[in-house]
Amino acid sequence: MVDVGSEHRVEGAQPVLDDVRLEVREWLRTNWDPERPLRAWRELLADSGWGCPTWPVDLYGRGLDATAARVVGEEMAAVGAVGPASGSAMRLAAPTILAHAPFQLQRRLLRPIITGEETWCQLFSEPGSGSDLAGLSTRAERDGDEWVVTGQKVWTTGARTAAFGMLLARTDWGVPKHRGISYFALPMAQPGIEVRPLRQMNGHASFNEVFLTEARVPHDHAVGAIGEGWAAALTTLAHERGLGQGAPRSTIPAGRTAREAAAEAEEYARTYVWYPQRAGRPDLAAPQAQAAGRADDPIVRQAVAHLESLERTARWTVRRAAESRANGRPPGPEGSVSKLAGSDIARTSGRLHAQLAGAHGMLSGSDSSLGGVIAEILVSTPAASIAGGTDEVQRNIVGERSLGLPKEPSADSGIPYRDVRRN
Ligand SMILES: Cc1cc2nc3c(=O)[nH]c(=O)nc-3n(C[C@H](O)[C@H](O)[C@H](O)COP(=O)(O)OP(=O)(O)OC[C@H]3O[C@@H](n4cnc5c(N)ncnc54)[C@H](O)[C@@H]3O)c2cc1C
Repeated sequence: MVDVGSEHRVEGAQPVLDDVRLEVREWLRTNWDPERPLRAWRELLADSGWGCPTWPVDLYGRGLDATAARVVGEEMAAVGAVGPASGSAMRLAAPTILAHAPFQLQRRLLRPIITGEETWCQLFSEPGSGSDLAGLSTRAERDGDEWVVTGQKVWTTGARTAAFGMLLARTDWGVPKHRGISYFALPMAQPGIEVRPLRQMNGHASFNEVFLTEARVPHDHAVGAIGEGWAAALTTLAHERGLGQGAPRSTIPAGRTAREAAAEAEEYARTYVWYPQRAGRPDLAAPQAQAAGRADDPIVRQAVAHLESLERTARWTVRRAAESRANGRPPGPEGSVSKLAGSDIARTSGRLHAQLAGAHGMLSGSDSSLGGVIAEILVSTPAASIAGGTDEVQRNIVGERSLGLPKEPSADSGIPYRDVRRN
């Protein structure tokens, strides 16, 4: 294993990077076989550490920094090698587990995230607590080696297929609200959990209500100490914010591994098929202006250029945040800034599409504007300002944590949660 510690980065960084490049190239030469079954390939990625090179060596990684990890990515891309599984398990659960879970739980949970065997959902929001997430009232009570969970979650994306839920539950009602919350890895396939899909105004049903009636979770599935789940929740939220969904990607699978990965991605994307429309589809703005014969209209040109500049700046912020995380720095306010930028882009793009399509933009179905895509954009973009924390809440975060503005008045801080008045 090549050690790329910070002391190597300034002087002699290039030789170290060259070593990493040669090492991964040699490993790929002996191991990458495009006809290998996807699961078997991902097991090799997990065991070798090359799938998640910035993770610790004893947790399926190689302990490399972001620059070296990029070199690994380049080499993988050069031979067309498939990467580890993606999705909310990798984006949200894995970083939280890496930062907060005990070692044995990390070993148990991280490997199937890399291989894609286990997907995750986020059991945070409740009917009475979304923005005020710390006001949640799903309860977990200790019963021997297990906790018994009762309550209701809502808006839970992907709950129907998830193997695990990132569960926030109240384990202590005698302390202020942020202090009595615990974070569990909840096995979803059990009798105490009922998942009911919710139909959205765009016709899709990607999120669900989740009813928990004496559901059980082992004590050793606590991610972080009991009563200290809020810190882990903040890690998940910070990773959720600012990671926008762009235009759908099309890949041409070559070989069995890539074909199976494409099929897996397609299955996963069923839940998220409308997410590119939720982001406003800024990629369609210029082609739509041309198709509508408005590409020479100075007002339209100005609007397209404005949208493009918003998008590029937001992408740089996301990249800066990703680099910073990959280098081991904790997520900062750029998550909230990117989240706000994403909402702004979605709304701006939706308005431009409405302007270009006119009344036709309201029609859905195969003979409407872009086969109904414009109509779907118009009824999906409002979600961008809500999911992962509303715009108002992001502004509060930026105001209080980055700009040093006075904190929002709170009627319940310092009070044991059981004494807090709530509906
Ligand atoms: C597409 C989508 C997917 C989602 N997926 C998940 C998921 O997988 N798991 C999950 O747990 N949740 C999920 N959510 C839920 C999401 O996190 C919540 O909807 C969000 O946090 C807002 O909570 P709420 O809906 O209860 O609104 P509320 O908190 O009731 O807010 C209502 C309005 O009041 C405003 N408001 C509230 N508090 C303040 C304040 N302090 N200052 C100023 N304004 C305020 C809000 O901005 C909003 O406009 C998803 C939501 C969407 C849209």
